Amino acid sequence: MKRGIARAGFVAALMANAALAAPPLEPGVSRELARWRAKTYGDVRYDLVLALRAPVTRLEGRLELRVAVRGKPVELVLDWRPPAGGRLSQLEVNGAALGRPRIVREHLVIPARHVRAGENVVRLAFESPVATAGTAVALYRDREDGSEYVYSLFVPSDASTVFPCFDQPDLKARFALALEVPRAWEAASNAHVIDTAVGGATRRLAFRPTEPISTYLFAFAAGPFEILDDREDGVAPQPEARMFVRKSRLERARSASREMFILHRQAVDWFAAYFGFPFPFPKHDLVLIPEFPYGGMEHAGATFLREDSVLFPSEPTAADRLRRAQLLFHETSHQWFGDLVTMRWFDDLWLKEGFANLMAAKATTAITPEYGAWNAFHQLKVSAYRTDATQGTTPIWQRLANLSAAKSAYGNIVYSKAPAVLRQAEFYLGAEAFQRAVQGFVRSHAYGAADWGDLVRAFEGASGRKLGAWADAWVKRRGMPVVRTTLRTGPDGRIVRLSLAQASALGGAGVWPMRTEVLVAGDGPPRTAAVAFEGRTATVPELAGAPAPRYVFANHGDYAYGRFVLDDASRAAVLADVGGVADPFLRALLLDTLWDEVRDARLAPLAYIDLALAQVPRETEELTVASLVGRTQTALRWYLSDAQRMQAGPRVEAAFVAGMTDAADKGQRITYFRAFVGVATTAEARATLKALLAGTREIPGVALSSRDRFWIIGRLLALGDPDAEALLAAQSQADASDNGRRYAYAAAAARPGPEAKWRRFLAFLDDTSLAESWIEESLASFNTVEHEQWTSAFLETALEQLPDLKRTRKIFFVNNWLAAFLGGQTSPEALATAKRFLREAKLDPDLRRKVLEQLDGLERTVNIRATFARSGAGTGPASRPRQRARFAP
Ligand SMILES: [Zn+2]
Repeated sequence: MKRGIARAGFVAALMANAALAAPPLEPGVSRELARWRAKTYGDVRYDLVLALRAPVTRLEGRLELRVAVRGKPVELVLDWRPPAGGRLSQLEVNGAALGRPRIVREHLVIPARHVRAGENVVRLAFESPVATAGTAVALYRDREDGSEYVYSLFVPSDASTVFPCFDQPDLKARFALALEVPRAWEAASNAHVIDTAVGGATRRLAFRPTEPISTYLFAFAAGPFEILDDREDGVAPQPEARMFVRKSRLERARSASREMFILHRQAVDWFAAYFGFPFPFPKHDLVLIPEFPYGGMEHAGATFLREDSVLFPSEPTAADRLRRAQLLFHETSHQWFGDLVTMRWFDDLWLKEGFANLMAAKATTAITPEYGAWNAFHQLKVSAYRTDATQGTTPIWQRLANLSAAKSAYGNIVYSKAPAVLRQAEFYLGAEAFQRAVQGFVRSHAYGAADWGDLVRAFEGASGRKLGAWADAWVKRRGMPVVRTTLRTGPDGRIVRLSLAQASALGGAGVWPMRTEVLVAGDGPPRTAAVAFEGRTATVPELAGAPAPRYVFANHGDYAYGRFVLDDASRAAVLADVGGVADPFLRALLLDTLWDEVRDARLAPLAYIDLALAQVPRETEELTVASLVGRTQTALRWYLSDAQRMQAGPRVEAAFVAGMTDAADKGQRITYFRAFVGVATTAEARATLKALLAGTREIPGVALSSRDRFWIIGRLLALGDPDAEALLAAQSQADASDNGRRYAYAAAAARPGPEAKWRRFLAFLDDTSLAESWIEESLASFNTVEHEQWTSAFLETALEQLPDLKRTRKIFFVNNWLAAFLGGQTSPEALATAKRFLREAKLDPDLRRKVLEQLDGLERTVNIRATFARSGAGTGPASRPRQRARFAP
């Protein structure tokens, strides 16, 4: 019924508007072109026949496109951005052959004289290269059994690199796909297979036409997959769910698939109830793709997941299980928020990603409450703060003039701030009004597109509140509030006045309307009060008269978004009391606030190490253990001087070894083990690592995986251990699988010395056969912070690569690259190099912001070291920067 109405609306729009010519064409998809097409065209359908022949080097296809044109015939403008080797032929429009296609700035233009009002049919043939890197239809070659797997990945607008189409999210279309593949292959796409025919060496699979979906959500994967089915007693759930896995991983996938299917059923039920809308597509396949560039991609009815994210490469901790569940919930919730209702334009990417991460946390709380989803959600918010407090930050919503720039929006603001802001919206509006608004929004825009203005209107309708100022502050303005508390107590030892004040973390004015919960804790039971904080300041009258607390914390429950600073007295009290805080979530939040003090150079990193080492043996929450040992590692390796590190290092090593051996919980033992590998430096620690490899020492109940072994070897290599090369050779022989080769490649990136570093760096830049996933896996070990004397030489060149990397690499690559190369440095000289680069290089504003974002961490490191990293016992002058290596390329 809804779709009937939408169609009638479209026809009415046809009558109401006069035809106008297409806007001037530019490469990519401009906003103007997208708007014009959304108004001018409709009822789009792509009938695609795609043929893949082994060994796969290309894809051959035929397209029959149907599109309705409103009113007077106008030109048809399709997007067509073929890579080298991409070709188009046999173009025919409404039955007439067109000869040579007219290509204008990445568009296939069909002149108006060939176009009719109403339905048009365009037929054409195309060819597109398929390679292991750099193509939207990608190839994975399994070296274990020689099998080939092919998959498409079109987000945000790469469908048009394979076949001409309207590559914008709001021109939804039905896709009818037929795939011709080698006889032994299986295939997944958005809909069910309705017909299979075998002829000679070829198998042809025809898929049912899809519901209306966007081009970036259309996908297929093909290869000799094994298929695991979710059936109980032969009965499939609704929607039907299957897991596709490559042949060589079938056994590993069996138990994982059972766990995933159970979570999937629960998630589907939970989301259907929450959204008030049944699962929107006829089935949901989970397709495991080795070395998939992201954790997952929510193609309608066929979610692709990185194989490693589902089939754990090492024994999992609870945090690993939580991450996997959240990945599944994130992608599954997208079937509603993203696929059923799609953003009109990629400037609203945040809306679908924000909802997916918020919904994943809510579903986790409902389905697997033991995982502590809000603690994990808090860690997600922390990653947003790491960006939002820097000059490189952006508003959640950014104008996007052309889809060719859509990759720039992917980052912490969209993935981490947006969900935090939505959670604050829920607390601000009330959970019930929030859900009612979301349900109305999903119902009204089902199988269509919407923007954030539509959602704000839904929020206003459900809550009866005007949200203009709220939305402007949170969505359109960059940065975040810093909230400070002021406490006045009377001679009777009671609170006279408790007030909050907010300012912008970036300096300057700015008020973020919010609702937060303030906690005061003293000798008796802690008290809390919710505060509407609409202006620059607010008071908390409910707490006046309460006994003077030992500390005040203004974001109890973590509903609000911002930096909530402890006042001096509270900081001292929290430092003393935090170990005794009974509520594990509050404890985690307070420990985190103290870490912020370290990052602001107000609390010595050594003091935090002492606190963490005292707290960690009695900490019950694995996630909190993980963040404590992680921060201890950061403090030790990045923030201390060499002399301080020499003193503190053995203590940290010993504490982690003790945890790895003695912690009662297996997940904690694994967590300590991983942290120990990161900090191990002394001869004794290296001996422990080698004993773990040799099996003469064990982590109780934990079997080392191949990845663990390579990881240990990488650390030994980084430390220049004399046995490391032999160990690497032995492990490489023991595990020559694809994953093993990737791990070995990453471990070898930790080789010390200028020559090894140069060789690897040049491979990053020039080796075109190198898979992106191999580079990404190597970046951190290459930039081992203890190697900055050598890696600092690459910093400038690494920065100069940014424009190229942005153009040629997948979405998150630039962020990872920058984080690794800047993150491997601690010296003022490296900071100066990066700043000089920013001054002198002609960077586009987006890349400039990305550098500023990542530079913040280096700036803080330099600042912390200048403030606290003094030689000896913490008095003398700041330590000299590490010796710089001099050599030429
Ligand atoms: Zn997502």
